[in-house]
Amino acid sequence: MRDEHVLELLPGYALDALEREEQRAVAEHLRTCASCREELVLLRGVTDSLAAAVIPASPPAGLRRAVLDAVRPARGMQRWSPSPAWAAVAAALILVLAAGLVSINQKLQALHARLAAQEQALELLTAPAARTIELSGSVEASARFVFRPGRQAGALIVTDLRDPGRDLLYQLWLIGPAQPESAGVFRPRTDRPVILAVSGDFARYQAVAISVERAPLGATQPTAAPILVGRL
Ligand SMILES: [Zn+2]
Repeated sequence: MRDEHVLELLPGYALDALEREEQRAVAEHLRTCASCREELVLLRGVTDSLAAAVIPASPPAGLRRAVLDAVRPARGMQRWSPSPAWAAVAAALILVLAAGLVSINQKLQALHARLAAQEQALELLTAPAARTIELSGSVEASARFVFRPGRQAGALIVTDLRDPGRDLLYQLWLIGPAQPESAGVFRPRTDRPVILAVSGDFARYQAVAISVERAPLGATQPTAAPILVGRL
């Protein structure tokens, strides 16, 4: 690579998708080659504007490697043809678009779950037979648990709960005669209420409680005293 341009590796370099060894070699070449530097600037313009149009995320495992391998010429192959560089640009575009699609799909799923929780909460809040429990405890917050006796659907609605810190989150527990059962984890929001959809046979429980647990998954059993409790 020492005496050749690195055109076909530039898209991968721009996307930070090369092996460490290749990344280093390209960087070395770029130090001494103005024409490849120019090419990289052009390429970054394309990939950056595409990346700005979609939200970055990781493409499916193996895709990046497979695409780059498919367009990379074998070692020792003649490199006078401009086509590998164009193929590499196309590969770069595919990678950026694939990453965007993965990310959009994830966002859609999260949005869908949020919407479903909001619908469930709204339905409960407007149902005449629904019961609303205010949770109270050692922290300032508005936390309500709404459910319909005899139905499986409930929802926790929380506003003004402080951020527990980066490594922590809040976990909702259903407290019955046996062990507490996790009803989900959440992080507070400053811009809107958190709504957590909960399903269960609420006649079996005496209370709901919220404790602070470790992110991102919470605990299987509460590890600290609850900060908020409401009797069902
Ligand atoms: Zn060069």
